[in-house]
Amino acid sequence: MTSTDTKPADNDTALTSVNPATGEVIGTHPIADEAAVRAAVAKARAAAATWGALNYDERKTHLLRWSSQLVADSDEFCALIHAENGKPLDDAFLELMLALEHIAWAAKNAKKVLSPKKVSPGAFMANFAARVEQRPLGVVGVIGPWNYPVYTPNGSIGYALAAGNTVVFKPSEFSTGIGNFLADAFAKANPDLPEGVFITVNGYGATGAALVKAGVDKLAFTGSTATGKRIMAAAAENLTPVLLECGGKDAVIVAGDADVKAAADAVAWGATANSGQTCAGVERVYVDRSVRDEFVAEVKKILEKVGPGSGADAAYGPMTMPSQVDIVRRHIESALKNGGTAVLGGPDSVKAPFIEPVVLVDVDEKSEAVQEETFGPTVTIRTVDGVDEAVELANSSKYGLSSAVYSKKNGLAIARRLHVGATSVNSVLAFAAIPGLPFGGVGDSGIGRIHGEPGLREFARPHSIAVQRFAIPGMALLSYSRTQSTMKLLRKLVPFLHGRNK
Ligand code: NAD
Repeated sequence: MTSTDTKPADNDTALTSVNPATGEVIGTHPIADEAAVRAAVAKARAAAATWGALNYDERKTHLLRWSSQLVADSDEFCALIHAENGKPLDDAFLELMLALEHIAWAAKNAKKVLSPKKVSPGAFMANFAARVEQRPLGVVGVIGPWNYPVYTPNGSIGYALAAGNTVVFKPSEFSTGIGNFLADAFAKANPDLPEGVFITVNGYGATGAALVKAGVDKLAFTGSTATGKRIMAAAAENLTPVLLECGGKDAVIVAGDADVKAAADAVAWGATANSGQTCAGVERVYVDRSVRDEFVAEVKKILEKVGPGSGADAAYGPMTMPSQVDIVRRHIESALKNGGTAVLGGPDSVKAPFIEPVVLVDVDEKSEAVQEETFGPTVTIRTVDGVDEAVELANSSKYGLSSAVYSKKNGLAIARRLHVGATSVNSVLAFAAIPGLPFGGVGDSGIGRIHGEPGLREFARPHSIAVQRFAIPGMALLSYSRTQSTMKLLRKLVPFLHGRNK
């Protein structure tokens, strides 16, 4: 998936934001060119002096004020999320709630995680005090997607701010209004702060590309793997560090001892909620032969009653990005061509901008529908003979974002065998709602971690400091005044400390 879609009335200097269900124009935003992006980064750099100099408690106060502002404005914000992204109002509220949980966690835990720590100097450097202190990186560039336009970028924005950085955020061209609402709420809640602590630059991929090259101290990206690779290549020119949260093809394993009804309920929701436009959504299922028929029948029974709509209370909304509709249709067709059967829906389920749920069984593993990210309300279900086969197939993907396991007795043991960044046992997507758990993938799913302690450390620079407290006579290791008697002593000490384990 790449951002090649354009919308009516787009031109070189402005982009329009439209309701994906109705095509109605929601707003127009000036596009930031290279000069405007550089100016934004300069503004954020100036603000970094003030924001970075605050202590953790002071930053926490500002971040929590921002959260309270978002709560106060939540009706207006959720209506905008519903209109611009298409997701139902309740889903918009749940997304906001999760983002608030993360902002709070980052704000409240930054002090503990990033405060200076004493380190043992070791036997040969016993006359030193050693400590590691965490410094903000400076200005962090954040580039976000549209599918969870509040929750997802906040895994970077909230944590980068809590660690003392300022942020320049380029929201997706499909959620520009939502991205700006977030930044405006921060400024509204914190009028005493200089402008530039958290600001946006708006535009398409070119604006994002300009941000990568604008001299930011780190670039945190969430979006497709193809764009992530382009960003990493561009960032390499200046050795700008990157955090990449990319696509997924998440698998669920349903073992023979699973609670089949619970597994079917979770798979039905995890595959179709948000129109299947969830990076860690359920795309593939490997179900044990002994419970296969019951499981497939149960998933079908649930999804027969679920459908998309433009109403505020629909189960899920339209496809947000028009070009994705063709990809979903292609995957359904490729699944059917490659030996699969549709037990619910089929190519006719695609009624752009809406797609009804599609359940595909026993599709060839080499099919695009199993190998590539579909990002639509579809799921493939394959029958397996036991956990070993399920684990092997689940791990046979270039992606490795997250996963889920349903098993009454062996959930944890199966989870440990999966080559991914996160796993939910007897649930789907639970890890994403627990702020203390890091989130991120392996392989084509990306590099680095948002959320939790690692998510704070991503946005800090460890600064190691060794302070000589006193000189040990005759132990001047770091000097030409070192003597032969020092070397004699060391030759005795080294075997004593390191040579006794044969
Ligand atoms: P995308 O890659 O098309 O766009 C993401 C962002 O990158 C947009 O803001 C876009 O304008 C910008 N961009 C495009 N080209 C660029 C370039 N050359 N340089 C810099 N920026 C550029 O992705 P999308 O369609 O917005 O989002 C959907 C994808 O995001 C899916 O693959 C999904 O799995 C992934 N995603 C991953 C996570 C995660 O945490 N791992 C979360 C949500 C979404």
